[in-house]
Amino acid sequence: MYSHVVAECLDCGQRDSYTPKIATCSKCGSGWREARYDYEAISKTILEDIRHRPFDIWRFYELLPVQSPHPTISMGEGGTPLILASNLGMMLGCPNLYIKDERQNPTNSFKDRQASITVTSLKEAGITETVLASTGNVAGSGHPPASDRIRGTAISLQISRIAEALTSRARWAYR
Ligand SMILES: [Zn+2]
Repeated sequence: MYSHVVAECLDCGQRDSYTPKIATCSKCGSGWREARYDYEAISKTILEDIRHRPFDIWRFYELLPVQSPHPTISMGEGGTPLILASNLGMMLGCPNLYIKDERQNPTNSFKDRQASITVTSLKEAGITETVLASTGNVAGSGHPPASDRIRGTAISLQISRIAEALTSRARWAYR
């Protein structure tokens, strides 16, 4: 049971408990739903605990569609540094311009974040097999966190990303 998030139907407004396996509204059957978080309840726990948590995406787990505060499916996604871009900032007239360096993620892509959350959510839902179609980074990102926990097929259409995916540590089958 996900206590901090519900799925709200964008067609009729019905609010259902969120479970990853149910993709449609219980009232009208619409597939257009949006995650709604209980920010007031979340703010009470997150503000108390956040400084004691690891500096990665799971630091903010209450704001993600997962149940576990300590997911086992992770390669250290998130927590990437902000780098002061002083020269670019000067050129643009923004002296405090920072760039988030997402190259520091496990496969050098910001998509590692969503891949880790997706795989964790799938595992929590009891889904053990997937097919992932991608033109590039998603195949490389989705593959590592799933390696030992979800069997699947990643389809990559970009040769360089296929090579990257194949050199990562997973056992997925590439076709
Ligand atoms: Zn509905």
